[in-house]
Amino acid sequence: MVHFVGAGSGAADLITVRGARLLGEADVVIYAGSLVNPELLQYVREDCEIHNSAQMTLEQVLDVVRSAEAAGKTTVRLHTGDASIYGAVREQFDQLEALGIAYDVCPGVSSFCGAAAALRAEYTLPEVSQTVIITRAAGRTPVPDRESIRSLAAHRSTMVLFLSTGLSQKLQEELLSGGYPPETPAAVVYKATWPEEKIFRCTVGTLAETVEGAGLTKTALIIVGNCLGEDYERSKLYDPGFTTGFRRGAE
Ligand code: SAH
Repeated sequence: MVHFVGAGSGAADLITVRGARLLGEADVVIYAGSLVNPELLQYVREDCEIHNSAQMTLEQVLDVVRSAEAAGKTTVRLHTGDASIYGAVREQFDQLEALGIAYDVCPGVSSFCGAAAALRAEYTLPEVSQTVIITRAAGRTPVPDRESIRSLAAHRSTMVLFLSTGLSQKLQEELLSGGYPPETPAAVVYKATWPEEKIFRCTVGTLAETVEGAGLTKTALIIVGNCLGEDYERSKLYDPGFTTGFRRGAE
């Protein structure tokens, strides 16, 4: 049996209770060492076999899983944040299906949630934006043309950019030409929820100089949108005059 486990965004105690239990029960752990906090290995048994997938190919990961299965062992595949976001898990799921190896998935706190917590932001502010676009700038890894930053920027929704700090100049140009006014608030969050977390607040117009000035190349998220600004409407949900399924509103 293979359990895919989301490690959370950084702080070792942000893994789920279930994830920590699965780690504690595992005979073999394959963790994404480029981003997973090594402190999480404190949850594993002393006799657990540990592999760092940062130095492995998909084939090597599958070799480890296959040998573990042959020996009747349980494997945890530990991915950073939540495995569904840039986790390269689908190719693993499909290979395990083909091999007839059972697996399941335990969700994790994605770094876009960790960054919201660091910023004390609400991504979906009433009358500001009710949409969060999670995307990345195209670099060595391509992005489909129809999902260009320029076209997504036309919505002026909240946008969270993964894997894009090395491309900030181009990114800024695309955000501006797509429709965000230069004064739109933005933020760069480095290592959200890790002890070394850093927050850089700026605007879309000063994004590239902020990223470059801070010397950020990886483990950072860029957040763009008026949800980081001052103006919004209060919620209907807690408005005294608004009736919900759980509460009758006052006249
Ligand atoms: N599955 C992960 C994302 C993996 S892609 C998740 O759900 O968070 C790796 C990218 O995620 C990094 O390049 C960076 O853009 C972002 N990232 C991961 N952890 C981060 C953190 N703690 N703070 C800021 N960005 C982070």
